[in-house]
Amino acid sequence: MTNKKIEQATKAVWSGEKEYLAHGATQVPVVHSVAFGYDDIDEWYEVAIGKRKGHIYGRNTNPTVQAFEDKVRELEGAEASTSFSTGMAAISNALLTVLKPGDRIVSIKDTYGGTNKIFSEFLPKLNIDVSLIETGNHEAMEREIKKGCKLVYLETPTNPTVKITDIARIAKVAKEVNALVFVDNTFATPINQNPLNQGADLVIHSATKFLGGHADALGGVVCGEKHLVNAMYHYREINGATLDPMAAYLLLRGMKTLKLRIDKQQENAMKVAQFLEKHEKVDRVFYPGLPTHHHHDVAKRQMRGFGGMLSFALKGELDAVRQFLPKLEYAHRAANLGSVETTVGPARTTSHVENTPEERKALGIPEGLVRYSAGIEDSNDLLADLAQALDAIK
Ligand SMILES: *Cc1c(COP(=O)(O)O)cnc(C)c1O
Repeated sequence: MTNKKIEQATKAVWSGEKEYLAHGATQVPVVHSVAFGYDDIDEWYEVAIGKRKGHIYGRNTNPTVQAFEDKVRELEGAEASTSFSTGMAAISNALLTVLKPGDRIVSIKDTYGGTNKIFSEFLPKLNIDVSLIETGNHEAMEREIKKGCKLVYLETPTNPTVKITDIARIAKVAKEVNALVFVDNTFATPINQNPLNQGADLVIHSATKFLGGHADALGGVVCGEKHLVNAMYHYREINGATLDPMAAYLLLRGMKTLKLRIDKQQENAMKVAQFLEKHEKVDRVFYPGLPTHHHHDVAKRQMRGFGGMLSFALKGELDAVRQFLPKLEYAHRAANLGSVETTVGPARTTSHVENTPEERKALGIPEGLVRYSAGIEDSNDLLADLAQALDAIK
């Protein structure tokens, strides 16, 4: 693409595709070939050592996969990007590429359950020290970072209580101690924020969620400066956590409607949050778009929209959740989010199923918390559905 400044909606449709089209096709092909052949062995060699553009073997690169990577890279305004089989593969590869025994990382308590498991179970085994700070306590985080660390790992908004961290504020302190800053941007998507513009070194996505948007393909992606992303690509091409071409195609196609979907999902999420906040059977609603949200001001400044995710605690706790959830007609009860269909689930069976009840308690996640990923349905139908399901709670 040219350097002309175009809007995110246009990038979502057009970016990354042109150079992969062939035979007049208007859509990127799914290239299933595992290997790419060459008659000229000198040309083959030049491609193999990266001197010439091309592909050698599917574990390393693939045209369909690259089209997907290019589209995300342009949406994030990054120099480079590389992809992975899942979001967790992106996160673990990113961490293990830059960390070594003896390093220290500072993060927040509310990261995605799988990420939290890496911090609590796998990194300590490699003698990597992890300090997890109360999410949203910027002063405590700044104090920890100033003690010195290799990496600051953020996720904002968080899963499932949608807490917000001020990326620019934390990145500024991280720079003072020469620490890298990684941001999991899965919930916000590049439609709502570009962490690289706020001082982050790397932005990470579970493409499985909003980027793909149709709950039919797993994938992960990282974007940042070339030297950093290339190191991650190199580690991944060897350990083999490669994105499948068919999944890449589904994600690529899903991304064309990213802007439309996010606009509608956050419009629905706001209406649902406002409705639930006034409902007598609801104890608390967590949504960054509500003025009652702890970091509404930071979210307003940092994000272009408040996103499609919210969560709420019912007054009757787990017992009420048991009665309420099965009554919803227009919501999948499933461990997923970001899809065109509204998807709901208790945090204890979705984002934080990997954690023990004690760990969840320590993370401030009520056992009766319901995570709500707003779909693109008509908002009046969603509100009516919620109303009848809440009425069914005895
Ligand atoms: C789902 C999710 C992940 C993990 O992604 P997978 O594609 O399921 O491996 C990481 N971070 C966040 C915020 C997520 O929601």
